Amino acid sequence: MKKYVYCFDSQGTEGNAKMRNLLGGKGANLAEMNRIGIPVPPGFTISTAACVEYFKLNNKLPYGLMNQVQEGILRIEKNMARKLGDYKNPLLVSVRSGARISMPGMMDTVLNLGLNDKSVIGLAKETENPRFAYDSYRRFIQMFGNVVFGINGVHFEKALDKKKEEAGAAYDTDLTAEDLKNLVERFKQIFKEQSNKAFPQDAWEQLTDAIMAVFRSWNTKRAADYRSVNKISDDWGTAVNIVTMVFGNMGDDSATGVAFTRDPATGEKRFFGEFLKNAQGEDVVAGIRTPQPISKAGRSSEDQITLEEELPEAYKDLEAIYKKLEKHYRDMQDMEFTIQKGKLWMLQTRTGKRTAMAAIRIAVDMVEEDLITREEAIMRVEPDKLDQLLHERFDPKAKKRLFGVGINASPGAASGVIALDPDKAVTWAKEGKSVILVRTETSPDDFHGMVAAKGILTSRGGSTSHAAVVARGIGKPCIAGAEKIEIDYSNHLVVSNGITLKEGDEISIDGSVGEIYVGSVLTGSSEITAVILGQMKPEEASMYSYYDKLMTWADDVRRLGIRTNSDTPHDSWTARKFGAEGIGLCRTEHMFFEGDRILAVREMIFASDSEGRKKALDKIRPMQQKDFEDIFKEMEGLPVTIRLLDPPLHEFLPHTNEEYEELSKRIGIPVEELMRRGQQLKEVNPMLGHRGCRLGVVHPEITEMQSRAIFTAAANLIKKGVKVIPEVMVPLVGLKAELDDQEQIIRRVAEEIQRETNIPFEYKVGTMIEVPRAALMADKIAETAEFFSFGTNDLTQMTFGMSRDDAGKFLPLYVERGFCRVDPFQSIDRDGVGQLMGIGVEKGRKTRPELKIGICGEHGGNPQSIEFCDELNLDYVSCSPYRVPIARLAAAQAKLKHQK
Ligand code: ADP
Ligand code: MG
Ligand code: MG
Repeated sequence: MKKYVYCFDSQGTEGNAKMRNLLGGKGANLAEMNRIGIPVPPGFTISTAACVEYFKLNNKLPYGLMNQVQEGILRIEKNMARKLGDYKNPLLVSVRSGARISMPGMMDTVLNLGLNDKSVIGLAKETENPRFAYDSYRRFIQMFGNVVFGINGVHFEKALDKKKEEAGAAYDTDLTAEDLKNLVERFKQIFKEQSNKAFPQDAWEQLTDAIMAVFRSWNTKRAADYRSVNKISDDWGTAVNIVTMVFGNMGDDSATGVAFTRDPATGEKRFFGEFLKNAQGEDVVAGIRTPQPISKAGRSSEDQITLEEELPEAYKDLEAIYKKLEKHYRDMQDMEFTIQKGKLWMLQTRTGKRTAMAAIRIAVDMVEEDLITREEAIMRVEPDKLDQLLHERFDPKAKKRLFGVGINASPGAASGVIALDPDKAVTWAKEGKSVILVRTETSPDDFHGMVAAKGILTSRGGSTSHAAVVARGIGKPCIAGAEKIEIDYSNHLVVSNGITLKEGDEISIDGSVGEIYVGSVLTGSSEITAVILGQMKPEEASMYSYYDKLMTWADDVRRLGIRTNSDTPHDSWTARKFGAEGIGLCRTEHMFFEGDRILAVREMIFASDSEGRKKALDKIRPMQQKDFEDIFKEMEGLPVTIRLLDPPLHEFLPHTNEEYEELSKRIGIPVEELMRRGQQLKEVNPMLGHRGCRLGVVHPEITEMQSRAIFTAAANLIKKGVKVIPEVMVPLVGLKAELDDQEQIIRRVAEEIQRETNIPFEYKVGTMIEVPRAALMADKIAETAEFFSFGTNDLTQMTFGMSRDDAGKFLPLYVERGFCRVDPFQSIDRDGVGQLMGIGVEKGRKTRPELKIGICGEHGGNPQSIEFCDELNLDYVSCSPYRVPIARLAAAQAKLKHQK
């Protein structure tokens, strides 16, 4: 029979940390902790394979599973000298979900399983603590009702609130045994009303139902949403962990808590966490009472009483354990623990989710502590998350009106309209609005709204609340526990500081400091960006040195060059500061739109003959030349790839009647005539029409003008001693003859200018590979081209035969239904487009081994695509300036992955 159950207890451990695919992260780590001598309550894990089998069998438990569960329970019963369902000495267990990759709070868990009307009496007698026994029972009924029968927790919570009111109790802890006993009766009633079934008294029935329900929780909407956002496979299933209960709700010498070995928001090396006395399980995270800090080092104000002071023995144990765990796992850990009558038990450890800032700082610190290698440090920071670090921060000079303060749970700044429920956040975000999700607290059911929002604000909960943990995971700014803020859901109002805001009003949150402002606040560059761009001194930005170290290590490792796509001197300057090693794509068409130029461009378009066109082009040339000079200057000593004019000419046509009239006056052609000719330029399929090199072939004077501008600029600068490396790139080539035609013009002009100025210079002529035919004919094309640059936007459009601008109507559905794993416009489609690239590289280098090859499509800044470019042995990737650091890190990771 297949083995489904893996035990961990004082007799032995069948699992270990490496078995996470089979045992889930939680199960594997429970086993590992047990193995290395950390106190874990005895239990066992039902493998993910059982869950997968359960779904395959149409929601039936696989054959033999329950026998193994019985053996597992028997083993615990012997160990604990208790019995499941026993009236005197009942064994209570938790039934916990736990997938391969941690999905915090997305799936279900049931605590205190094994209680019924009789065993609760036994438990009360045995512990001489009836309050505790009935508190556990009411929790069990609620969780079991919710998880197994889908009964909305609100029903139970309302009853609890009512009871508190009747009893005059401020907190749940103020309720007496008698109150709780009554509440249990009420809960059972609610259970029956909602499920049409009496609350099951048989512990084995409870256990079987709970196991199946936890399996099914893999498929709840929120879990599925989480997986789709995080690109986690739907096929893995969850493991189920059956763990002997330990109790944090036995009185004031008992507690439950969560802790991080380092600060997950900033990465600072300080032990950090929160706990609640006389509480159980999720209480800390759910924000029912405001939790207390664990350590003196981790508290935010002196008057907070810490675990360190209240339960020093347990704290000392916890301290030793966290150090041991961090050393053992060699990474920051996020732990759950319970203290039962002063004795500490560990219930979970996992790699802690963290912000980009924390990821960098922790990685760098750990290298310096000799805990990990530089290579490991590089692999530990998700390149895409650097975005968070390089972008948003409120402009320190912006005017602000304080609305409230809370806990700075996840850094970054965001402004947006207030949405009080997650569905509204999604709707408004879809309309293109920037949204701040504002809730008293969040639960896993709010996940879709949190993803849609730019930032999250809650009035309750601490830095380990659900809102905080999830926000850090998805890289959004978050302020939690802004307790002075009143949220009135029914009237759609948020009130604080004497100010009333309506849902839909604008608000701003600064998750780095925990301040909330009225209205939208201008954002400026982040600290790190400010240092990079020279607006701030490195010593003023604490994070900069960490960032700089990590990036230097990444640069040491990577093979791929990183260039930027830039059309202006300012962007070039920015990109260079960010570490760009050249320009991979300088589009020239944008230069045609500026100021008066567009008039000259239109004059050129409407000229009736080549002479007329030349005259108009002569007006544009000096302006282009100046642009190139400025860009060359910024990129001194680095290669600059300039692409000749690419878009179809009609993109430059006048739009309004006034524009037509202005042009008519200027060039002396009647408006009607102009409009008629304009009409003629319209194309049925402009993307496949008269554009790219086809323009230069039909109108060679355009290529001539652009070449003149480029090479005159180069010569002028060289004369001044500036080192310039121009590379002229011909777009949309499909036939070698097209490139040959253009190359002749370019080289002729280059020769002419060298002769005229008497200044020799080096340059390259190359082509975009963006038409599938060019990839297939790369060997022939490389006879002429000195370099290739993959234009993966067009190459993707043309390979798929789908217009990027129109794909929105069907492509998201394709991705959702798994037709393609990813949106091919975001991440290179390796199978198809990638195959063409492979052919292009191979054939091109066969003809010309020293051929330089890069990529300049949007994919050049996408980490998965960068990895692929490294595999293909390209020379460089080129991306927008702010993505340059992301590309540097991604390129280093790609290299390290291939070394393995
Ligand atoms: P999640 O994956 O949502 O964190 P868990 O399975 O970890 O869910 O359990 C939810 C809460 O219950 C956690 O706070 C956990 O520490 C607590 N818990 C789980 N099992 C036990 C147990 N056997 N004894 C005491 N507390 C438990
Ligand atoms: Mg947990
Ligand atoms: Mg293109």
